[in-house]
Amino acid sequence: MLNSATASVSTRALTILGATGSIGASTLDVARHLGIPIFALTAHRQARKLAELAIHSHAQVAVVSDPDAYAELKTALSGTGIEAAAGPDALVRVATNEQAQAVVTAIVGAAGLNATVAAVRAGKRVCIANKEPLVMAGGLIMAEAKAHGATILPIDSEHSAIFQCLEGHTADEVATLILTGSGGPLRTVADLGQVTREQALAHPTWSMGPKISIDSATLMNKSLEIIEARWLFGLPVERIRVLIHPQSVVHSMVSYRDGSVMAQLGRPDMRTPIQYALTWPRHEPGPVAAPDLAQLASLTFEEPDARRFPSLTMAYHAAQTGGLAPAVMNAANEMAVAAFLAGRSRFLDIFATVERALAAVQAVVDPTLDEIIAADAEVRARLGRI
Ligand code: NAD
Ligand code: MG
Repeated sequence: MLNSATASVSTRALTILGATGSIGASTLDVARHLGIPIFALTAHRQARKLAELAIHSHAQVAVVSDPDAYAELKTALSGTGIEAAAGPDALVRVATNEQAQAVVTAIVGAAGLNATVAAVRAGKRVCIANKEPLVMAGGLIMAEAKAHGATILPIDSEHSAIFQCLEGHTADEVATLILTGSGGPLRTVADLGQVTREQALAHPTWSMGPKISIDSATLMNKSLEIIEARWLFGLPVERIRVLIHPQSVVHSMVSYRDGSVMAQLGRPDMRTPIQYALTWPRHEPGPVAAPDLAQLASLTFEEPDARRFPSLTMAYHAAQTGGLAPAVMNAANEMAVAAFLAGRSRFLDIFATVERALAAVQAVVDPTLDEIIAADAEVRARLGRI
């Protein structure tokens, strides 16, 4: 079950890592509605956009992780009284500063690993959207949370749903966790060999950043979520299954041993799970209304097609292999998605790249964080030129 060593109070000041992205924007909107003050906002190199968001939200600090963007940030913030900072160390500083009671992790990819671990070690309320660090190093992150009294709360809509369906219960009551997924934009596309970038980016129900949109098209997003759920809820992947639910209304379910299935429903709007991570354990009024159930024609569920979308099988395999396999799978996927988005490779190359990387994983039992980071870097170096 989730680690909740500290009694919760709803969020006071907030640091948002990755504030210029899709989850960042939704988090800022929720924080504004709830009146949660912003301590710090970060971005990779979108200095001007970050400065605008920092001014608008009355943040105290703004950080660009790319030092080359510092001068532009500094200029954009001059005369505002908002501190400008840059580099990976500054990211860690705002993730651990005592003025930030909660941290929302909304960086995309493995780039969020260090700051996530730092926030956990600082005992924060860590609201996790950035799932890739959990895929890479979930065992370590959950152990660190326990050791340092951090409270980890899921933002990913499926995991927020499962978290809500599990409240008051323990893992031994659960038969299976059921992750739902829309099936992505290619669910009914016959020939995956001809898929264009635009087709793969056009998600039918959710509006998201480019990397997770491609992950949704390959079902790699659901695959990463299987491993994310394994660590958040402490159940083996054999007891985590996926159902395709194109309407994206039921955000996930828990099937209990007595035959009861609990589901959480909501609009396909990330502000709902973000808000619950910020207000847990209370459901407070916020910016999103409940879905109008009478207007829903039908809710359907079907098995995923693991033959057309082999990423699901790869995720079960990587989780069962353990060690460095999930980190290698994640790194290869990040590189393959970047190559596809840049027009350097085709859609089906993503599966082939990840499969090849998984076949070459070195067997390491209980890797350290440094070993995981090294394995991630090694895959990136090897795939650098695709
Ligand atoms: P996005 O691309 O819209 O935003 C990413 C943010 O991370 C930006 O602020 C960017 O500046 C920052 N960033 C990018 N590269 C960085 C780097 N190397 N170092 C530091 N910062 C960097 O992404 P998003 O769609 O908001 O997704 C963010 C995370 O949340 C991902 O892990 C994604 O899987 C997860 N998530 C997203 C959604 C969604 O609806 N968008 C839903 C569930 C989970
Ligand atoms: Mg999700």
